[in-house]
Amino acid sequence: MKKFIIIILFFLTGCMNEATSYPASEQVSKSDRHANRILISDLTRLDHEMDYDLLKEAIVSTYSDHTASVWGENIEGVITEIDTDDKVVALTFDACIGTPNSFDQELIDFLIEAEVPATLFIGGQWIKENEAEFMKLANNPLFEIANHGYHHKPLSVTGASAYNITGTESVEEAFNEVYQNQLLIKELTGEFPKYFRSGTAFYDDVAVEMIEELGLKAVNYNVLGDAGGTFNQTQIVNTFQTVNPGSIFLFHMNKPNSEIASGVIEGISQLKEAGYSFVQLQEYDEFLK
Ligand SMILES: [Zn+2]
Repeated sequence: MKKFIIIILFFLTGCMNEATSYPASEQVSKSDRHANRILISDLTRLDHEMDYDLLKEAIVSTYSDHTASVWGENIEGVITEIDTDDKVVALTFDACIGTPNSFDQELIDFLIEAEVPATLFIGGQWIKENEAEFMKLANNPLFEIANHGYHHKPLSVTGASAYNITGTESVEEAFNEVYQNQLLIKELTGEFPKYFRSGTAFYDDVAVEMIEELGLKAVNYNVLGDAGGTFNQTQIVNTFQTVNPGSIFLFHMNKPNSEIASGVIEGISQLKEAGYSFVQLQEYDEFLK
């Protein structure tokens, strides 16, 4: 089997090198693009970090002639809810930048105590600052680990910005932002995340296409739970009253000096009384839309 993969890779690498030898001004031909697609899909399945550069070259070659025309949070291709009539909601918590005291222990302890599952979108820098905490979270089956970008940047191929944060400036940088964190999480947990959310949750359309090609799903939200940690407890509890079956919440788990924990604790208790239960994204993977 290994031999077979190596032969295929050798063949495809040949195709790809041909594709990348075209002058930048020329469009990548249809058959080269097809070869790149097969290569990318193979590389994202292989368990080998040494293929990083090969994968990056194939992505850059495929997307460098694409022009971004849309910029926003909930653009086409970005998942915002679960398509279901089941009374379930998905709670997602972002861990953005790793600074000292950037872990909301009270919030996480409550989820564990109450056995409420959640999906945690974790940034590469946060992981590096909080590796021991990260490992505890990753080893707890209540939590599903997802990718929140290596440097917590909006995902752009042109340097578009959101909330005064400059996005990635090229296809290559966008790829690095996504894939360096994929590899970091894989190295620590043994598994590649299935879901990605960019820093600030902003994307352009080329970046979203690239994420899909890498075998990931871009996931945002349809309930803004804490507005970047600025909501007070009452405002957070009120967001729980806006849910529908299949809602996806966005909260933060890196802001312990906020009212997020107390708001979430009260909101979850109200939703339970209303007959809702809580799910990880992967449980409803095929119904994400
Ligand atoms: Zn974030």
